[in-house]
Amino acid sequence: MQDILGLVDEKRSKEILLDFLKIEGPSGSEKAVAGKICEILLEAGAEESNITFDDANKQMPDPTETGNLFVRLPGKGRPRLLAAHMDTVPLAVGVKPKTQGVWITSSGRTALGADDRGGVAVLVATAEALLESGIDHPPVTFLFTVREEGGTWGARFVDQVMLGDAEMGFSFDGREPDKLVIAAPSSDKFTITIRGKESHAGTAPERGVSAMEIAAVAVSALRKKGWFGKITRAGGEGTSNIGAIEGGAGSNVVMGSLQMQAETRSHDPEFLGKITKAYKVAFRQAAKAVKNVDGETGTARFKIHRAYNAFHLSPNSPAVAAAAEAIKTVGLNPGPKVQNGGLDACWLNEYGIPTVTLGSGTYNAHTKQERLNLPDYLNACRVALLLATLPFDESSNSK
Ligand SMILES: [Zn+2]
Repeated sequence: MQDILGLVDEKRSKEILLDFLKIEGPSGSEKAVAGKICEILLEAGAEESNITFDDANKQMPDPTETGNLFVRLPGKGRPRLLAAHMDTVPLAVGVKPKTQGVWITSSGRTALGADDRGGVAVLVATAEALLESGIDHPPVTFLFTVREEGGTWGARFVDQVMLGDAEMGFSFDGREPDKLVIAAPSSDKFTITIRGKESHAGTAPERGVSAMEIAAVAVSALRKKGWFGKITRAGGEGTSNIGAIEGGAGSNVVMGSLQMQAETRSHDPEFLGKITKAYKVAFRQAAKAVKNVDGETGTARFKIHRAYNAFHLSPNSPAVAAAAEAIKTVGLNPGPKVQNGGLDACWLNEYGIPTVTLGSGTYNAHTKQERLNLPDYLNACRVALLLATLPFDESSNSK
């Protein structure tokens, strides 16, 4: 075991990290990142034929330079998958990484983009160590996804055939390397379009049907019944939010239409359905209730899409057991964690690969205060190397 951990070269792992932090690549512009991954791993001895891209980018609503990148290292044993996403939030564009003691930070004007270049670097350092050492290992697929931020699009449209026969997955995207995300919620995202009727607000407001009024009546009903914001009620728990609104022509016109962006989340998909349904009912009833003097009403239309689906892994799941074993082997204490947001792992779990998410040392992601802790990052490299090499026999997981 010590021999395996000896393969983590701290200096080289940091070098790889800085290489990837410097590359600009917000969602949709991942090509340069993918190019660098291929360059390093081909140089380390990967076979050209084991490096492939899927065409996930062609199925996404927004233009995206490349599909997801797969690097396969053949071996003998239980096949596994290591994953990280190549994109960063737009706030990281123009980053100048600085090392300050055990931390890497941005200059303060941008985010750092360690979410998720930290994860990318963990995977590349691991693959390079496997290739250069020639150590025996099971079949490992390294999956580098695109467009995780803003919708987990790469993972959603990942080529499921190319995922292969992996029995367990480990996604590196987060803070501490000893915390493993074993559960995430389902979420619906939706656009609500309300149409009423415009009218002069001074001379004939009674002839208008106010889209604003319909929205207000609906939100008030949701609030009264406990479906707005944090939801705790008999039968389930979840959250709901209306986060953006757009509409109207000016203060002197009864608002003829408006559009809102909303979402619901719950760890229980059935209860999620109830929250989303409560929204539909509230808006449709409000649209019927708000009438002008001529008895005219408005409409409320919903465009709903399932953003991601919940997963809950049992402690006996091979992925959870393997991750816990690897974390203990590097001297840390594994702590299972429930997340209330979407992850690439939601899709990998849905596509049949039990996948946990581990940290690679990134703190304050999506802000200008984002920073990466080097000791955490190096521990993530050690955990990843163990996950890529240890046999994790079926028998040791069945307890
Ligand atoms: Zn991320």
